[in-house]
Amino acid sequence: MRGPTQCPKCQGAMSEGVIAEKGDAGWGIASFLPGTPVVSRWFGLKVRKKDLIPISAWRCGRCGYLESYALSG
Ligand SMILES: [Zn+2]
Repeated sequence: MRGPTQCPKCQGAMSEGVIAEKGDAGWGIASFLPGTPVVSRWFGLKVRKKDLIPISAWRCGRCGYLESYALSG
């Protein structure tokens, strides 16, 4: 995908990546879940997998600023 090439904070160079998170099946990519979160005491966050949108992130190599995008499709 297309993202920012220049940091909005310091004008440094931005490079693409993802936000990795550890789940039950090993490492995965963090996702955006639309709507108000429903958290169960027993089952944790209620997630319908089809609602999840993986997050792409861009990081400034100079100041570390992160800009993230969740694009579906
Ligand atoms: Zn920066």
